[in-house]
Parts: sequence; C-alpha cells; structure tokens
Amino acid sequence: KDIRTIAELFKDNVLRSAKEPRFPANASLLNRVSLLQGDITKLEVDAIVNAANHSLLGGYGVDGAIHHAAGSELREECRTLNGCDTGDAKITKGYNLPSKHVIHTVGPVYQSSYAELKAQQLASCYRISLQLAVKNSLKHIAFPSISTGVYGYPIGNATHVALKEVRNFLDSEDGLKLDRVIFVVWSDDDKRVYENLIPQYFPLE
Ligand code: ADP
Repeated sequence: KDIRTIAELFKDNVLRSAKEPRFPANASLLNRVSLLQGDITKLEVDAIVNAANHSLLGGYGVDGAIHHAAGSELREECRTLNGCDTGDAKITKGYNLPSKHVIHTVGPVYQSSYAELKAQQLASCYRISLQLAVKNSLKHIAFPSISTGVYGYPIGNATHVALKEVRNFLDSEDGLKLDRVIFVVWSDDDKRVYENLIPQYFPLE
C-alpha cells in the first residue's frame, strides 16, 4: 500500500545502518515491514492489533479508539469471546473500521521485579497475534506499541521485544505467508525509539 516500508526509510536516511546488528541482513524483509506514525484505526489493512484488557469489552488508549471507531457491534462480538488471558489473542471482524479484522491481545501490566516474565508475556502477544493472522489467511497486520501506555511497559524494552518477535516470525515458514507487518506509533518519542532500534533487527547490510 502507500505506507512506507523500512526499505524506503533507509533510502531516505530516516533509518541509518546499525553498528551492531542483532540479526543477519535480509533485503527482502525490508520491503515487508513498515513504520508509521498515526492513528491505527484509520488503516485499511487485513488486521489491526488492539492492546486490549482481559474483558475485551473496551478501555482506554488505543483500545478505546478502536472500539469507538468500530462501533457497538464490535463489543457485541467481543462479549461472546469470554475474555482473554495475558499474552493471548483473539480475532474479531472490524465492523465500521477500514480494517477487515481486529486481533485483540492482552499485554502485561509492567512490573520491574518481574521483568523476565513480562517480556515473555509481551513476546507472546506479538507471536500469537502473528500466528492468528496467518491462520486466518491475512496478509497484513498492524501493531500498536502494546503495553507501553496505561500498562507502563518501558518503550525501549518493549520495542526490543516487538522487533525481535516479528523478525523471528518473518524468518519462520509461517512468516512467508505475511506480506506486511506495520508498526504504528503515536508519539514522536516512540517513533524515534523505533527508528533507532529497527536497524538492529532489520539491518540494511
Ligand atoms: P496498554 O494498555 O497496552 O498500555 P495503551 O492504549 O494505553 O495500551 O497504549 C499503547 C500504545 O498505543 C501507546 O503508545 C499509545 O500512545 C498508543 N496509542 C493510543 N491511541 C492510539 C491510536 N489511535 N493509534 C495508534 N496508537 C495509539
């Protein structure tokens, strides 16, 4: 679509080569990952991911925005799902959203004394959301920065988890079935964090 890929962001010097890449370079992946600043509810994609809570009945932040834009039918479908555990994900239709589906995942509420557990739970949110997309034959999926708002996960740590999990998934056999993964950030600060870390997980060379 017309959402800029990280290949284009490298070309425009928005992204700069990593000094210490954490993964080998893979040129084809650069065309299948995007970074976008803006409102995830406006995206016309196969699925947007919702940073939901256990009830799946709506809440603050991106969750509130998605339910507001999708309309009350989304809440009705969510009511039939019996909630969702931390680290798990469930899929619904998109209703009034331009996106065809919503993948609702419940990120961890951050606690520094359980950093390892929280990282595993956050990784699981990304992994299971990606698996759900493939299982439903979806080709593109857009993620907000899960848990980094009301749930208090430090943005730098959360972004490492998000990028690592998406890279690992795209390297797997199932990953070949996805055309595009879009990271959607809201604030300027979060955008800078992604711009700084993407080259470590998706190196140019
Ligand atoms: P959580 O409860 O998982 O922390 P939040 O919704 O509070 O979720 O925040 C997650 C991230 O989503 C934050 O970075 C927040 O700025 C961002 N966000 C809020 N509204 C939107 C939106 N409409 N589109 C994209 N991102 C959004």
